[in-house]
Amino acid sequence: MKKVIVILIPAFIAVIACTSESSNSAQHTPQKMSTGNPYYSRQDTSKLQVANDEWKKILPPDLYGVARNKETERAFTGKFWDQDLKGTYYCAVCGNELFKSNSKFASSCGWPSFFESVRPNATIYVPDNTHGMRRTEVICGRCDSHLGHIFDDGPPPTGMRYCMNSISMDFEPDDSPASKK
Ligand code: FE
Repeated sequence: MKKVIVILIPAFIAVIACTSESSNSAQHTPQKMSTGNPYYSRQDTSKLQVANDEWKKILPPDLYGVARNKETERAFTGKFWDQDLKGTYYCAVCGNELFKSNSKFASSCGWPSFFESVRPNATIYVPDNTHGMRRTEVICGRCDSHLGHIFDDGPPPTGMRYCMNSISMDFEPDDSPASKK
């Protein structure tokens, strides 16, 4: 009997230690959209190569439609087009940091608009000649998901307008506990 107790006590302590570490890291690692998405990370910036078949199993249908199927949400319907809060915008598919709120500006286009991304490789630019237009598509620098388009009619200092789909982004306010870590 003594032997069993000697074995069980360290095992019990190990379980407690493990549980407390995971709840601790969840507290300091905000991953709002990560439920069931093993690729979502706000810390890991390594490139992802995930097939659409796999994303389809992971993402909600409306996010999959925009992010992976290049659909566009209707103007003036997204959750961020008229938001004016201080914080950070992340890719809703993979958690990649995309924009700071201080680069967001009030645009009349009906989609959230920014004049610059948070770092040069946060976003990638791809020629898009679909729908009879010559545009430049903006995709996530980490997971290649469709975010929106970029135009040269933005305000100073860049003169650019990143015209994004709200659904392709997560937002973390500066005053949230997660942002103060
Ligand atoms: Fe992404």
